[in-house]
Amino acid sequence: MREKTIFEKIVDKEIPSKVVLEDSDFLAFHDIAPKAPVHVLIIPKKWIKDFNGIDSELMGKMSEFILKVADVTGVKESGYRLVTNIGPDSGQEVPHLHFHLLGKKKLDANFG
Ligand code: 5GP
Repeated sequence: MREKTIFEKIVDKEIPSKVVLEDSDFLAFHDIAPKAPVHVLIIPKKWIKDFNGIDSELMGKMSEFILKVADVTGVKESGYRLVTNIGPDSGQEVPHLHFHLLGKKKLDANFG
């Protein structure tokens, strides 16, 4: 059986997190090692490994949720970066689809 990811443990409240926004399908919480004054992780509660497994229905709902997170964190107008890592070359650490939402600072334009 597949082992639970750390993010599933966060969804199940086995590991604490600082929640920014939550609904029945998605959870947004502060990254434990923030790279910007706003650094929020946005995940579907139902496990999916990465963006390669997403479908249009999930993407549609997730986009709406992400826009709400941008709103409540106050970055919608000032600007923000939305990033998702996929697989080994990206350096993805947690095999559970997540978007990083970063803002409230001038972000480095170098994507590496
Ligand atoms: P990835 O490299 O997979 O795109 O990003 C994983 C992110 O999850 C990293 O930015 C890391 O700081 C964050 N992270 C890892 N473990 C935890 C945790 O237990 N709690 C929270 N809030 N963030 C975590």
